[in-house]
Amino acid sequence: MKQFLVDTHVHLCESAFDSDLEHVVSRAREHGIEKMITVSENKKDVYNNLELAEKYPEIMPAAGLYPANANLREAEEIQDIIRREHTRLAAIGEVGLDFRIAETEEEKELQREVFGMFIRLSMELDLPLSVHSRSAGKYAIRQLLEHGADKVQMHAFDGKAASAQEAIEAGYYFSIPPSVSRSRQKQKLLKQLPVPSLLLETDAPVLGPSPEERNEPSQLIVSLGAIAESKGFSIPELRQILFNNTYGLYGDMLLQ
Ligand SMILES: [Zn+2]
Repeated sequence: MKQFLVDTHVHLCESAFDSDLEHVVSRAREHGIEKMITVSENKKDVYNNLELAEKYPEIMPAAGLYPANANLREAEEIQDIIRREHTRLAAIGEVGLDFRIAETEEEKELQREVFGMFIRLSMELDLPLSVHSRSAGKYAIRQLLEHGADKVQMHAFDGKAASAQEAIEAGYYFSIPPSVSRSRQKQKLLKQLPVPSLLLETDAPVLGPSPEERNEPSQLIVSLGAIAESKGFSIPELRQILFNNTYGLYGDMLLQ
């Protein structure tokens, strides 16, 4: 089967890419990245990402509500769009929990309620979830497991490997951003994650190899190199394995 690199979590609708998205996409292609899953933080992002996917065959849209924006009305509106557009969507995301932002128990509860709505919808429509879990890794995984979610990508996971263990056993994936090259937490986590659970992401425009510079999908090769080094695989070997992992979660949509 054909194999290529996939940036499984990126924010291409951000204004940081307004002026040169065409070049960003062609640089990605030059680095062997043929598909990019662009996630949404709010309703406006959802529409922008659907539009980008019309324009670029490399771009696959995901629709969701970022936990910092948790709001029941917007969550319901986005759910309606997801139901309507689900055949065009690669995933539901980015959704999840962010307990660094939630200051009160009520705010955490609201995030949990919204996250629960999206988990149920992902199971109803059989769409993967692209999950944010800053300072809430353990809680996000617990909630996913309670709902019985089975198509899950934990993005830029900052929890402990011990919390990740149950998620690994449930077949969830963990995507590694280029900031792994400068983050000891991420390097340590990577050491403990098994290769069949790994995916590549950039989370661009953030989480690049250098915190001052705009990140972009072509930097995916930094993540690839870091995994190769950490796990002792050759790049061609690893490319094939990571493609298989990505295909395991996102399936035939990658080949369209
Ligand atoms: Zn993100």
